[in-house]
Amino acid sequence: MSATGSPPSNLCPELATLALHAGAAPDAATGSLLMPIYQTATFVQQGVGLHRGYTYSRTANPTVTALERRLAALEGGEHALAYASGLAATTGLALALLAAGDRVVLSDVVYGGTARLFADVLERFGVAPEFVDTADPDAVAAALARPARLVFVETPANPTLKLTDLALVAGLARDAGALLAVDNTLLTPVLQRPFAWGADLVLHSTTKFIDGHNATIGGALVVRDAALAERLAWHRNALGLIQSPFDAWLTLQGAKTLPLRMRRHEEGARRVGAFLAGDRRVTRLIDPGAPEFPQAELARRQQAGGGALLAFEVRGGGPAARRVLASVRLCTLAENLGAAETLITHPASMTHAAVPEERRRQTGITDGLIRLSVGLEDPADLIADLDRALTEVER
Ligand code: PLP
Repeated sequence: MSATGSPPSNLCPELATLALHAGAAPDAATGSLLMPIYQTATFVQQGVGLHRGYTYSRTANPTVTALERRLAALEGGEHALAYASGLAATTGLALALLAAGDRVVLSDVVYGGTARLFADVLERFGVAPEFVDTADPDAVAAALARPARLVFVETPANPTLKLTDLALVAGLARDAGALLAVDNTLLTPVLQRPFAWGADLVLHSTTKFIDGHNATIGGALVVRDAALAERLAWHRNALGLIQSPFDAWLTLQGAKTLPLRMRRHEEGARRVGAFLAGDRRVTRLIDPGAPEFPQAELARRQQAGGGALLAFEVRGGGPAARRVLASVRLCTLAENLGAAETLITHPASMTHAAVPEERRRQTGITDGLIRLSVGLEDPADLIADLDRALTEVER
């Protein structure tokens, strides 16, 4: 549900059914209701060049294909490719599309590993990343005044939850002849549909909400264009980035309840957000689902909800934040988000430690910032846990 009470027109109504049925039918050979785990390295060939579509599990595997079909259906794309991690998907995207000398325009706030990949690895191979505030159309237009091959947007951005207007940036990218990739990890297709706004590629760390159970590391790319899908598949095979059958199978099971879970995450996050908003010990709250959120109008237009993530600071800055993180009992201090269990994180020292301090400061990833991924527990229990931890800090 959107903050206005009705789902935006871009929300796909059949997601609950697609999440359960797309991509996997009962096994024709045995009747097994669940897609089997094809845990095999290779596939027997009937003769040289004669096979049933699968040759080697680094190239493709039936269990992985089932997950890919489900993800393509959920995201409203035509083709999906599953990778060993979200970062493997980003690597696969970059190495398939970029060459030495290519410029990439990225959101100034992205997951720390994404920033590190572009700034500290790909730059060594001649790719030129430029981090800009993609929430500012003038900054994007200025960055695209010079040729760029790719625009890479994360919205909401992890961990400051700043939004980028996708329709606007898609238009600028198209005019500049650049492809637009959108990291949709934080909202999933249940709450945001980047293809509807003009994205060319949608990226996921399936480690997060799509698996949803803290059980796997995985990633995916979804596209609509067949030639682009083929190019990505060729590179995934060449680079060895595919997901394992077992992880694909677990992710396939997790994805079944994605629409249900996202609604419940949404409900919990809004209740915990309302508690934090009203607490005098909290000095700054970022809740994209709250009417006070600075980009609330964009959130209403572009998203079907604020999502499960909140970020906040408490009185006393960094040292107080560390005490909150040490005092919570139900909220678990860990790196990850989007799982059934509520996870609490200190981005500056954990997920975004690889981002240079200067850029962290410029973009609001302060030492006092706490990121909360609201899980599926009873929100009243989460509020009680946070309330107690905040009281502890005051002692
Ligand atoms: N994209 C976002 C928004 C993330 O938060 C993460 C990880 O935290 C990634 C990509 C990378 O995914 P993975 O950890 O599965 O490699």
